[in-house]
Amino acid sequence: MENKKVLLDVKNLSKYFNVKGQDLKAVDDVSFKINEGETFGLVGESGCGKTTCGRTILGMYKATKGEVLYNGKDIHSLKGKEALDFKKHGQYIFQDPYASLDPRMTVGEIIAEGLYVHFPKMNEAERKKVVNTLLDEVGLNKEHALRYPHELSGGQRQRVGIARSLAVEPSFIVCDEPISALDVSVQAQIVNLLNHLQKEKKLTYLFISHDLSMVKHISDRLGVMYLGSLVELADSEKVYNKPLHPYTKALMSAIPVPDPDHNSDIENRIHLEGEVPSPINAPKGCKFVTRCPNAMDICRQKRPDFLEVENDHFVSCHLFQEGRSVEEAEEIQRKQLEKNAQIKLEEEKKKIAKLKENKK
Ligand code: SF4
Repeated sequence: MENKKVLLDVKNLSKYFNVKGQDLKAVDDVSFKINEGETFGLVGESGCGKTTCGRTILGMYKATKGEVLYNGKDIHSLKGKEALDFKKHGQYIFQDPYASLDPRMTVGEIIAEGLYVHFPKMNEAERKKVVNTLLDEVGLNKEHALRYPHELSGGQRQRVGIARSLAVEPSFIVCDEPISALDVSVQAQIVNLLNHLQKEKKLTYLFISHDLSMVKHISDRLGVMYLGSLVELADSEKVYNKPLHPYTKALMSAIPVPDPDHNSDIENRIHLEGEVPSPINAPKGCKFVTRCPNAMDICRQKRPDFLEVENDHFVSCHLFQEGRSVEEAEEIQRKQLEKNAQIKLEEEKKKIAKLKENKK
């Protein structure tokens, strides 16, 4: 990390929505940095605040608290030309390639839209040339410029969405679940295209996804969100191979292994029980306390700090605080999971015994 230039510095960012007089804390005091040229993955269950975080970072929502520093300047305080310039540098690829393209515009018009705003001196012939080049770069051809979105497949529409975001020559793109609405066969093609474009154009991505197996392949570093807060952040490999936070462990254990003879993913799966609290009324202490297999008394009283527990590995969990080493905290988790598995097994045995008795 030492030699990398920080492009975006998200500092204590919060975004609350007012719901019937109460604060819905969609993003709650989130901090992380994104380095130039990297892909930062943001993962978590649906509704955990990933999309709101991405949109607030780009200024599509006004932040309730905190800052988003882009090249050292807070984007929420930019005005006039500086604000317009940031809109050019920071682009967004939407989740739904069906809803995000105007059905009344041709593909060429959709891609060229941003050029009128950010390159007003460009003439018609130049615009056409840029559109054709972009179509080629995203794997379409110039004939597609005359078509309407309804004449394209889902994958082609997402390619148009990518071309539209590239038209204004951005340096940073928020890719918000860009493959989740697509057929599985097309998903890998779009991920490969994004990877290729990143290298070609030296782009920086914030890649939002709930699909952990896919985000693993594209992200350099990964942040895990739960109920509006970051609970873990590290290199992708570390998060996948050695997750520390109990919630991340449960998420990772649920990733299916594509091998019919491989049963260990089922055996080792951590089943989370308990209710997901409302972001309007989150627990006073750790937000994960209602579902955590390792919950302790302190977890109900005090919110854990987001601390660096290993080199560039941040976790928000009391297990890794209170003077414990990472190894000690992991040992506590392991023993607790074993104990829970034993309790489950005993319950199952009792159920089967009861069924047998009833049959007699
Ligand atoms: Fe579980 Fe406590 Fe850690 Fe929260 S702080 S994840 S409840 S052990």
